[in-house]
Amino acid sequence: MVKLNKNYNNLKKSYLFAGIARRIKEYKEANPSADIIKLSIGDVTRPLTKTVVEALEKASKEMGAAETFRGYGDEQGYAFLQEQIKNYYKRNTGVQLESSEIFVSDGAKSDVGNFTELFDTDNTVIIPDPVYPVYVDSNIMNGRHIVYIEGNEANGFLPLPDQNTKGDIIYLCSPNNPTGAVYTKDQLKLWVDFANKQGAVILFDAAYESFITDDTLPRSIFEIEGARTCAVEFCSLSKTAGFTGTRCGYTIVPEDIMINGVSLNKMWLRRQTTKFNGTAYIIQRGAEAVFTSEGYAGCKENIKYYQENAKIIASTLDKLGIWYTGGINSPYIWLKCNMDSWEFFDLLLQKAGIAGTPGSGFGKCGDGYFRLTAFNTKEKTEEAMRRFEKLFI
Ligand code: PLP
Repeated sequence: MVKLNKNYNNLKKSYLFAGIARRIKEYKEANPSADIIKLSIGDVTRPLTKTVVEALEKASKEMGAAETFRGYGDEQGYAFLQEQIKNYYKRNTGVQLESSEIFVSDGAKSDVGNFTELFDTDNTVIIPDPVYPVYVDSNIMNGRHIVYIEGNEANGFLPLPDQNTKGDIIYLCSPNNPTGAVYTKDQLKLWVDFANKQGAVILFDAAYESFITDDTLPRSIFEIEGARTCAVEFCSLSKTAGFTGTRCGYTIVPEDIMINGVSLNKMWLRRQTTKFNGTAYIIQRGAEAVFTSEGYAGCKENIKYYQENAKIIASTLDKLGIWYTGGINSPYIWLKCNMDSWEFFDLLLQKAGIAGTPGSGFGKCGDGYFRLTAFNTKEKTEEAMRRFEKLFI
């Protein structure tokens, strides 16, 4: 009889956001007139920009004409998009990449999850707590040993390695989901030095880099000296360009990472050419348009809109004297709720009609904290904060 992967038994019963959606649905069914404002799931609400839509339309038409139709594309992505990503890195971060180091995908989540395939299940994984649940769950699925390093108020939810830190695969997310905290260059240098010394690999999630406003903060781990020999970077157009439903991301695997004489870049190429047939041509043309000057200006306008929402939330918390991180270089605000996170979830939902995300859903160290997102409309964010203020004043 077929045997199942027993590691799945070690997962929490449901994915965090599915659990939240179910609770909101149940509350809504019991209270049909409740007007619930969702500041919970990290999904965008602004539509795709005009430049992107035009590119998608043009590419769709090409697919409908025999002379311009395209079948299977390159598994690693079309050269026209790799070139744009390469130029974007140079402009945005000063980092010089080779096209062979850029792997276009259908989003960061699948790459973050799939990349673990390249590593033995024997490896120890270092994961900051609290954290985006995908890192934890995908390693539980593979049966890897996970060591959590504590994020807390004292370290600003930006844990750093110390003499007791030991592990082989390190996940870092900056700007962080859920805390909105961002590592400085000096802090990332400590991680890079640690990884190079230990022979570890850093899996760096830069999905929110486009929200960074402070020019002194790193937008890519490759801005840090030494990162090319120890880090892989995952990036996404989901939050940068509103592609959560359109699906496109990219992963940077430097040619310089060699493990026991084996190139990680060539291993990932082998994996992708075997199990992935590329991101849709139409979508890659849409992604290409994101990186043109007109396209990126449109995306920045949407990002600004969310940043204004984050300011509305942050200024309410300032007024109420509530401790928080994030909100300036990130669409997330991580606040201290001084009670069990799920208790706070119920309180906000029932007394103010606001749905947020309990911090404990992101890890043990998240308990007592709560995540609000800046992705709703300005009007709804303002209304939610009016209700929030009334509840806590
Ligand atoms: N990485 C982080 C930290 C995220 O918060 C998210 C989405 O919420 C993703 C990756 C997923 O990105 P994508 O939509 O490209 O799969």
